[in-house]
Amino acid sequence: MRVSRYFLPVLRENPAEAQIVSHRLMLRAGMIKQQSAGIYSWLPLGLRVLRRIEEIVHEEQQRAGHIPVLMPTIQSADLWRESGRYDDYGEEMLRITDRHKRDMLFGPTNEEMITDIFRAHVNSYKDLPLTLYQIQWKFRDEIRPRFGVMRGREFLMKDGYNFDLTKDDALHAYNRHLVTYLRTYERMGLQAIPMRADSGPIGGEDTHEFLVLADTGESEVFYDSELTQLTFGDREIDYDDPAACRAVLEEFTSRYARTDETHDPDEFARIPEARRRQARGIEVGQIFYFGTKYSEPMGATVVGPDGQRVPVHMGSHGIGVSRLLGAIIEASHDERGIIWPEGVTPFHVGLVNLKQGDSSTDSACDAIERELQARGMTVLYDDRDERAGAKFATMDLIGLPWRITVGPRGLAANKIELTSRRSGQTVEMAPQEAIAHLAELYEPVFARSFRG
Ligand code: ATP
Ligand code: MG
Repeated sequence: MRVSRYFLPVLRENPAEAQIVSHRLMLRAGMIKQQSAGIYSWLPLGLRVLRRIEEIVHEEQQRAGHIPVLMPTIQSADLWRESGRYDDYGEEMLRITDRHKRDMLFGPTNEEMITDIFRAHVNSYKDLPLTLYQIQWKFRDEIRPRFGVMRGREFLMKDGYNFDLTKDDALHAYNRHLVTYLRTYERMGLQAIPMRADSGPIGGEDTHEFLVLADTGESEVFYDSELTQLTFGDREIDYDDPAACRAVLEEFTSRYARTDETHDPDEFARIPEARRRQARGIEVGQIFYFGTKYSEPMGATVVGPDGQRVPVHMGSHGIGVSRLLGAIIEASHDERGIIWPEGVTPFHVGLVNLKQGDSSTDSACDAIERELQARGMTVLYDDRDERAGAKFATMDLIGLPWRITVGPRGLAANKIELTSRRSGQTVEMAPQEAIAHLAELYEPVFARSFRG
C-alpha cells in the first residue's frame, strides 16, 4: 500500500477526550473515529489490525476443531423470555420494537440463540461433542463507556458455545478452550493470565477470566508472580485428548490468581511474600461451564446411548476482539507511538523513500516493495513528497515493527537501513540482505497460522 493513496488520517495533537494511552494512540494513528459514546467507526489502519486479531482467533478456534457460524445481531425477545433472562438482564440490554410492535433486542451475548439452533438440528449424542462459535458485534448499553474500544457499547466479541453429553465432556471442552486462549493471546504478543473469577449474570459453576496486566486495567487482581514466567509457546497438543488439555489447565491455574470478586486474603497470605502481587488487569476473555442452565428450560436435549433424552451440558467462552487492540497497545508502546507485535501488525514492513522523485531511489523502493510482497509480507510504502522527519514520525506513531529506509547516498553503496521499532536499532545492509532477514524473521509468525 502506498501512503499517497491510502487513507491514514493521523492527528498531530493529543485528543483531549482520551484518558489512557491506547485510546490516545488509536485516535492519533487514525485507526478509529468515535460516532457516539462507545460506538466507533473503524478506519483502514484500525480495521487491518482488527482483521488480524480476528484471523488469529479463527485459526486457534479451528485448530481445536471448533466450528464457525454467524448469528444475527438482532434477536427476538421471545427467545430470552424462554431462558428467563429477558427480565433479568436489565438496562445494559438495548431493547428495540419493530414496526409490528414485536420486542427485539441487539444481542449482548448469544446463549439463547445458539441453544435454539442446537435444539432445531441436533438430536443424538452421536452428534456430540460440538462447539460452535462466531465473531460478531455485540451491544451492551454500558453505564460508563470509556477508554475507547476498551469499554465500548458496540464491540466485537468471539463467543463460542460447547454442547456435550456429560459434565466430564463439557469440562474437557472448558479445558480445551483454555488452551486455545493461551495460544491465541501469545500469538498476539500478549501474556494473559487465567484467573478464577465470578460467574455473574451468565451464571455457572466454573469460570476463569484472562487478564493482561496493565496499570490502566479496570480489574483489581491478586496473583503469584511465578505465573508471569509461564508460556505456552508453540507446543503441540492433541485437543481431543482430555488428559492433555487438563494438564495444561492445571499447569496454568494451580497457582493463586484471582480477581477481586473471588479474592481470598487468607489463601493469598500463604504464598511466600516475595511472590505476592496485587495489580491491575484488562479482561480480554472469559470461559464458563454452566451445565444445563440453558439446555433445560429451552429443551436442548439429545437421545443418549441408553435411548433416554437428556439435556446437554454447555459452556460459553468469550474473547474481547475489539478490546484486544487497546490491550495490546497498553502493553506495547513508547513515547513515540504504538509498537505492534509481529503477529498483529497492520503491515509487516514500513518502507520510507528519503528522496521521492529521484529515479534511482524510486525504482529501488519499487523493487523492494515487490520482493517483500512476493515473500508474503505486506508493505506500507511512504511515497509522499514529505520531509524525512515527518515520515519517520508517522511510521513510529503507527508502530510497524520494521522499517526500511532508502536514500540516494546509501544506495550508491548498495545499502539501505533496517530499523527495529522496538529496540530503535538501525543496521545498514544491502537491500537483498534486508529482505532475506525480514523473511526469516516473519517465518515463525507465518508458520503459526492454521488452515483447517
Ligand atoms: P466486563 O466485566 O469487562 O464488563 P464481561 O465479563 O461482562 O466484561 P463477558 O460477557 O465475559 O464480558 O464478554 C467476553 C469478553 O468481551 C470480555 O472478556 C471482554 O474482553 C469483552 N467485553 C465485554 N464487555 C465489553 C465492552 N463493553 N467493550 C469491549 N469489550 C468488552
Ligand atoms: Mg467476563
